[in-house]
Amino acid sequence: MKSILSSATGSAEEISALIEVLHRTGQRLEELTAGEVDAVADVSGQTFLLRGAQETARFRDASRQAAVLNALPALIALVDTQGVIVSVNEAWRDFSAWRVFEGAGHAIGANYLSICDGAQGEGSDFARRAGQGIRSVLSGAQRIFSVEYSCPTATTRRWFLLRVTPLPGECPNGAVIMHLDITAERETQENLRISDARFRQMAENILDVFFLRSFDSSHVYYVSPAYRRIWGRTCESLYENPASWAESIHPEDRQAVATVFRDDGKIGFDCEYRMIRPNGEIRWIHVRGFPILDATGHPYRTAGIATDITARKESDDKLRRLNRVHAVLSGINSLIVRVLDRDALLNEVCRIAVKAGAFKMAWIGAIVPETLDGKVVASFGGERGYVNDVRLTAREGKAQSAEPACRALRQSRPVICNDIGSDASVAARRDELLSRGHRSVGFFPLTVAGRPAAVLALWAGEADVFDAEETQLLLELAGNISFALDHLEKSEKLNYVAFYDVLTGLANRRLFLERVTQYMRGASRGQGKLAVCVIDLVRFKDINDTFGQPEGDSLLKQVAQWLTRNLGDVNLLARVGTDRFAVVLPEVENEESVARLLEGAMKVFLEQDFTLKESPCRVAAKVGVALFPDDGTDADSLFRNAESALKKAKASTERYLFYAQKMTETVAGRLVLEYQLRHALEKDEFVLHYQPKLDLLSGRITGAEALIRWNDPRTGLVPPGRFIPILEETGLILEVGRWALRQAVAEHLRWRNAGLDAVRIAVNVSPMQLRHRDFLAEIEAAIGVDANAAAGLELEITESLIMEDMKRTIGTLQAIREMGVTIAIDDFGTGFSSLSYLARLPTDTLKIDRSFVTDMIGGHNGILLVSAIVNLAHSLKLNVVAEGVETEDQAELLRVLTCDEMQGFLFSKALPGEVFETRFLQGVGPR
Ligand code: C2E
Ligand code: CA
Ligand code: CA
Repeated sequence: MKSILSSATGSAEEISALIEVLHRTGQRLEELTAGEVDAVADVSGQTFLLRGAQETARFRDASRQAAVLNALPALIALVDTQGVIVSVNEAWRDFSAWRVFEGAGHAIGANYLSICDGAQGEGSDFARRAGQGIRSVLSGAQRIFSVEYSCPTATTRRWFLLRVTPLPGECPNGAVIMHLDITAERETQENLRISDARFRQMAENILDVFFLRSFDSSHVYYVSPAYRRIWGRTCESLYENPASWAESIHPEDRQAVATVFRDDGKIGFDCEYRMIRPNGEIRWIHVRGFPILDATGHPYRTAGIATDITARKESDDKLRRLNRVHAVLSGINSLIVRVLDRDALLNEVCRIAVKAGAFKMAWIGAIVPETLDGKVVASFGGERGYVNDVRLTAREGKAQSAEPACRALRQSRPVICNDIGSDASVAARRDELLSRGHRSVGFFPLTVAGRPAAVLALWAGEADVFDAEETQLLLELAGNISFALDHLEKSEKLNYVAFYDVLTGLANRRLFLERVTQYMRGASRGQGKLAVCVIDLVRFKDINDTFGQPEGDSLLKQVAQWLTRNLGDVNLLARVGTDRFAVVLPEVENEESVARLLEGAMKVFLEQDFTLKESPCRVAAKVGVALFPDDGTDADSLFRNAESALKKAKASTERYLFYAQKMTETVAGRLVLEYQLRHALEKDEFVLHYQPKLDLLSGRITGAEALIRWNDPRTGLVPPGRFIPILEETGLILEVGRWALRQAVAEHLRWRNAGLDAVRIAVNVSPMQLRHRDFLAEIEAAIGVDANAAAGLELEITESLIMEDMKRTIGTLQAIREMGVTIAIDDFGTGFSSLSYLARLPTDTLKIDRSFVTDMIGGHNGILLVSAIVNLAHSLKLNVVAEGVETEDQAELLRVLTCDEMQGFLFSKALPGEVFETRFLQGVGPR
């Protein structure tokens, strides 16, 4: 009895069982009431007269059981075969809010069937059904009648279980009627159902795979439907065969995954690996698992999430590879200018391809023009024995003619094999190549004087290295090597004199122009410029006339040596006339930097003592400068323009002149400018203009970039390109930058306080500011004025700057973000190399540099690059803004590439604060 009691609180069966036991005893007691009485007892309002000790004891049992019944939360009544209520428990009696069975007479003696039949109001239908149910139990037609129903109470709706069970006996002799309140149970069930549905909805709609499995992986309890999409296998197949998860891991990655799991399984693991779908396709997967511990702290299940990161991996890989090829290209371009010996050139090409290009092996095979047969003449990264065995021919019909290298030579076009494992053309040597770790190879023909002369073979350890873009770059590379070979061949034939100045040993004009052409190829792919300077010695003719030609020659030699020493690279220098030298500066940032360089160099030159007739003398020089690409797109016109600038300089008081007049003016006006800028801040002459950024999909304004202008009282608004470099050089940027920060914060707060929909303002931060030790304190001070200030500020930091000092910058940016200020990486894409670090950078937004947006329309490459950047950024959960959007076409393309926001003249240029405010900010009412 006790055990039933303790567990009987909710279960309908257990309550019924109790009642039956009790009732059986109760029946016997009723029979006894007619006879002799030994005791009187009161049970639930009924009086029982007891006779004899045995009966009294029995009754004591019965009354105990009745007490139990009364303790039960259910409403319980016993009815006889006619439906007359013969006994009820306290709950039945007390339940005053009983609304289903309206009317009086729930007490003993009332006929429950009549109550049901006569019920009125909302519950009457149910009452009649209940009546039928009770009848069917009483007649023995049905064993148990059980139904759930709801009924309104004064405040809420409650749920009940009605259960009717027969009293035991040969023939039907009554029934137990029980109403059990199951509202709480129902609610729990409902809540469970809702939360389960929520979980499923989430699990089934996210793009990642959720899974729950046993710790030893032998059972899978749950896997979300994304599994089917990513793995290409049904969820059922995984439930049936949990091992198929591990079997789908790329064989080369299994070892690594197993190690991670072994080492980190108990604390959770995080790994990336390749998965092979049933159709052979490879996907990159990122899996994170978390152990679920039992009460003793042992893991018994693993919950986890798996993400398909193929797109990120691919764009990552692609950028890394293209980067590599760019590195090879620029390395080889500068090599070509320096090297004068063919073998040295070819060996160096192979070395750079392996070292900078990360190819496994590179070799170049050359053929003899007369026989069209040949062998490997330069190599790097390969095994000697193997490359020595390679035999080449450009003829048809020989044993090796079908080899891909020979085909490339014969057909003068690249031959690519992107998977050595499956390509038929290398079938004969497949096993050997694979065992050496080669997975793909490209053969690029090199031509001399328009005929195939050699072939460059590049071997890589990964498959699919040579896609269209990479092949294009490598073709360009092959073109450049061919150019160099051509040049070398010619120069071998021609006399030294044709290219060199005999007096000084420097290159002559002809060789100089060829070198400039070569450097121009390198410069045209980057952002940088190239400068050609022509230097003329002042009054050299007088010296020659006065001291004689040998002395003049001696002076020229001294000047040549000085120039060589100071430039550090003789290949940049030439003697191009009697007293005329030329210098090419292959990588200059802008005209300013050239001017600065010239100023410095000329000062030193002027102070240099040369020797003339054994006594010291000083020489002055004039210089003309032309810049590529601005002042000419070929070496010849560039050189002529530099000469014409020199001519002007000689006729003027200037020591040097740029071909484009305005540059010289800029430089000349610099000192004045510097002076004026020093006072501009005090005189309150700086202003911030605001350029809106907008959401590409909704067209909503999402923010503004603050762009500084100098309101020069003499000339009007001056754009930042004209004065920021000077502020930086003079250190004034620190003060001006601080002003800009405070100004932007003040503007944001003003918008806010005016009840406008104030957007976040992005402020550009100069490298110097970021490096300054007080920078964090300055931001704190700027946003300290108001609790809302931090949320109104973003800092734009250029990518190249971050690269300079990653570790420190990360710390600084982290601290800034913790203050609630967001970070955007500006001019993204211009400092290529930083991509791999991006994941570690505490940042919110990437701003794709304008040059990419511009390039996007012209060609395929541009689109690929932007799309790669967007993908990468999104995989790192960064917001992407495209800068400098000028046309509807660009905006549309960016939308297609899922770029988030844009900024540019298409929508609006930067505007004064009040114009920005009236045009773009709407009131949102007082805050
Ligand atoms: P940025 O940060 O890349 O700013 C974007 C520049 O692109 C702005 O030039 C803007 O007017 C211009 N721009 C915007 N949309 C278009 C477009 O569709 N087409 C074209 N062609 N240009 C567009 P701005 O105002 O001359 O500023 C030049 C640079 O000066 C800025 O480049 C930024 O690096 C610097 N700068 C501006 N304000 C500040 C400042 O307060 N502090 C610092 N340290 N640098 C600043
Ligand atoms: Ca910016
Ligand atoms: Ca920018």
